[in-house]
Amino acid sequence: MTILVGSAMALRGAPQLRARKRSPNALAKEEVLEKLRKRIQQIKKKRPAYGEILEFYRKVKEAQVEVKASLKIDPIKLKKEWKELVSKEGFSLIQKEDFPVDIEASAKLFQALCQIGKDENPYMAERTRKIEEAVDNKKIDLKKLLKEGVKEQRIEQVADELGLDKKVFSFLIQSSIRPSIEAGMEQLRNEIDPETWLKGYCPVCGSLPSLSLLKEEVGKRYLLCSYCSYEWRIDRLFCPFCNNKDQESLHYVFAEGEEAHRIDLCDKCHQYIETIDYRKLEELDPVLEDLATLHLDILASQKGYKRPVPNPWTT
Ligand SMILES: [Zn+2]
Ligand SMILES: [Zn+2]
Repeated sequence: MTILVGSAMALRGAPQLRARKRSPNALAKEEVLEKLRKRIQQIKKKRPAYGEILEFYRKVKEAQVEVKASLKIDPIKLKKEWKELVSKEGFSLIQKEDFPVDIEASAKLFQALCQIGKDENPYMAERTRKIEEAVDNKKIDLKKLLKEGVKEQRIEQVADELGLDKKVFSFLIQSSIRPSIEAGMEQLRNEIDPETWLKGYCPVCGSLPSLSLLKEEVGKRYLLCSYCSYEWRIDRLFCPFCNNKDQESLHYVFAEGEEAHRIDLCDKCHQYIETIDYRKLEELDPVLEDLATLHLDILASQKGYKRPVPNPWTT
C-alpha cells in the first residue's frame, strides 16, 4: 500500500501494538474548519510524518466545505410503499445513482481539486496534470461523468482509454460530488431511525461502512457509510461484513498511547474496520482520524486482514 499523497515516512515509527479482547453536527462552516485545523495541528505535532498528507486533506476539505454552502440540490422524492419496504425487507432508501448532484458546483470543485493536486508532491501533481489536460482538451466529458460519478467501472474505463491514473482520477471525481451526496443524505436523514436498523450496510444508500464509531459513555457503536456519510447504530460485537457475532472470533488491536483508534478484526471473514472511540476524543471528522492512522491499516494488512472499503486516500 502506498499513500496517495505524502511520504512513506508516515508509515515508520508505528508504536508498539497490544492486542486485546474486545470488551449533532450542524456547526457553522467556519467553526467546522477552525476545529479541523486545530485537530490537524494536534495530529501533526504527535505524528509529524503525516504532515504532508494532512495538509492536502485540509485543502481538499476546505474546498468541499466552501462548495457545500451554496449547493443546489433537487429534493429527493420517496415513494411511500418503498419507505415501508425499507424497514420490512431491509432495502436501502435509495441507490447510489439516485443522489441528485449539483453538476455545476461539482465541476467547479473538480477544478479547485485539480489545482490543489497540482500544488502537491510530484506524484500527485503529474497525474493530476494529465487528467486536467484530458478535460481541457475535451477528451473527457466532465459534466457527464460527474453525473455518473458513482460508477467506478465507467471511471476506470475512461482512465484506461486515456492512459490516466485510475486511483487519482476516481479520487478527484468522487471528492467533487461528495458535497452533493452528503447534502442528499441530509435530506433523507429523518426518514430512518438510526438506532434500529442494525445491519452491516447503509439504510440510506446500501453502501458498506468505512468506519465504526463508539459514542456516549456506554460506548454505543455506530457505522459510518463510506458513500453518503450516514451513521447508524450497530451491535458492539458484530462484523458488518459477514454478520459474525461470535465473541471468540472478533477482537481488536490498538497502538499504545492511541486508545481512541483501533482496528476491529474478524477471524471469520478476515476483514477489518477501523473504530474511532469518541469517548476518548472530541467528535469531529472521522475521515481525518482514519487518514491519520494509516499505520493501523498497514498493521492489519500485515496480519492478513483485508479492508472491504479501501481508504480513498491510499493507492
Ligand atoms: Zn449511505
Ligand atoms: Zn467478518
